Amino acid sequence: MSKVKQRRRYDLIILGNGAAAFAAAIKADELGKSALMIQGGTIGGTCVNVGCVPSKRMLVAGEVIKNTFEHDLGRGAIARHNEKFDFSKILRSKDQIVRAFRKEKYERVLRGLSNVDVIRGFAEFVSRNEVRVRSLDDASGSRNKGGKVFRGKNFLVATGSSPTIPPFPGIEKVRYWTNVEALSPLRKPESLIVIGGRALGLEFAQMYARFGTNVTLLQRSKTIIPDEEPEIAEALTKYLRQDGVRIVTGVTIKGIREEGRRGKGARRITVEADARGKYAKFEAVALLLATGRSPNSLGLGLEKIGVKTQKNSTNAGAIIVNDEMRTNVPNIFAAGDVTGEPMLEGLAAREGTIAAENALTRGHQKVDVDFVPRAIFTDPQFATVGLTDAEAVRKGYECSCKILGFDQISKARVIGDTRGVIKMVADERTHRILGIHILSRNAAELIHEASLIVKNKYTLEDVVNTIHVFPTLSESIKIVAQSYFRDVGATSCCI
Ligand SMILES: Cc1cc2nc3c(=O)[nH]c(=O)nc-3n(C[C@H](O)[C@H](O)[C@H](O)COP(=O)(O)OP(=O)(O)OC[C@H]3O[C@@H](n4cnc5c(N)ncnc54)[C@H](O)[C@@H]3O)c2cc1C
Repeated sequence: MSKVKQRRRYDLIILGNGAAAFAAAIKADELGKSALMIQGGTIGGTCVNVGCVPSKRMLVAGEVIKNTFEHDLGRGAIARHNEKFDFSKILRSKDQIVRAFRKEKYERVLRGLSNVDVIRGFAEFVSRNEVRVRSLDDASGSRNKGGKVFRGKNFLVATGSSPTIPPFPGIEKVRYWTNVEALSPLRKPESLIVIGGRALGLEFAQMYARFGTNVTLLQRSKTIIPDEEPEIAEALTKYLRQDGVRIVTGVTIKGIREEGRRGKGARRITVEADARGKYAKFEAVALLLATGRSPNSLGLGLEKIGVKTQKNSTNAGAIIVNDEMRTNVPNIFAAGDVTGEPMLEGLAAREGTIAAENALTRGHQKVDVDFVPRAIFTDPQFATVGLTDAEAVRKGYECSCKILGFDQISKARVIGDTRGVIKMVADERTHRILGIHILSRNAAELIHEASLIVKNKYTLEDVVNTIHVFPTLSESIKIVAQSYFRDVGATSCCI
């Protein structure tokens, strides 16, 4: 999509075309300021094309398959459906959703922004007031020479992130998947090794296991989701294993090789590893690297204009910004994945809005990353906001935690799905709720009440005294708060 009036000087030049870029373009338009969006990838960026939208669609397909076959209503209560499903139709329906979203939420929106021009190409800073846009060769992705220079008063770098490919020995000779291939495979693999036990790895592992693929998930640390509450990691491990995912933790990859290339026998990938001190070998026909994402900050000419990026950290390459999304160069802002973890769609959009507003109004709006909710869309889902127990202790709180199983929640029993736990972290002294962590059906929906509680510094008493609808899964938040004061197993419903 190109929409250029060939203005050569803009109030705001936006590098990128994802969530952060769109939010900034909308804000600039609202403020009546001229903006140029430089679109270096498919319109809409990662989330709509190869991220949130297609992955959630495919996860739902897996859930439908699973729930069609299994429910605890009792044997014979519902006739078993035909267990056959058409994988290619699942992919097709995913593509339809992506196309529809792209059209409605991005192409159409952009057409309505009368102050915003768009140019396709790859941007690179020439100076602190100029970018050069080189046209993209769509087929090869290579960049042409030359390009057009645009001048701007302010700039927003919103170039997103790309999969991190660790230097595993042999990886350069192996055909592996990233999220892109995992969302559009040529065929469903009979077996799959997933490296990485955080959000993306877990979602893809369960999705493929439910499609009938034999999945092995390898994780370097001792548990999956190592930064989250250990009880939740343990419970999620159990549920994923019940779903057929083989989970191996404490794994150090020693080498990866592929056999059967170019028609010489069936394709097979072998991963050799040290698994908790013992030699281990894993084989599959496909390999997915879900080993994190790296900010797209290279090749933008940032060094040339003195914009600082993170060195030597897990966020290496991330553009350093303050809470107003300002870099160290006064007229250059950055937002979204390119600023490092946490990498989330809603946060990217919020940062884009704040950056554009601050750039165009000399404002000082801030983004508060302390209360950003996150979710993993496994089944059951995991969602979290605020501090974990360990983080609260590190911050010096006198921490008090309660954990409740969903077998204590009436609605979970009514719907026949008691999988999950909820953990609340509170300050012992003031009763302020510091964090809420939920593993349950629909946890990603429940977390917003938790976000308001944590953000507004509510206490246990505030929550206990708030009437909740009975029976609901969100009652779990009230009941875990109540458990600080009484034995919730010994009270009647809705007390
Ligand atoms: C499989 C997967 C599932 C996910 N699921 C979720 C989820 O459920 N919920 C959630 O909150 N988040 C999810 N995310 C994360 C979410 O997609 C990202 O946080 C979000 O898309 C980041 O938006 P952004 O605007 O920073 O970058 P992007 O959307 O990546 O957009 C950046 C764009 O800039 C372009 N670009 C790069 N360099 C240049 C340049 N020099 N000039 C011009 N353009 C350039 C890129 O090609 C890209 O199109 C998921 C991610 C993945 C990979």
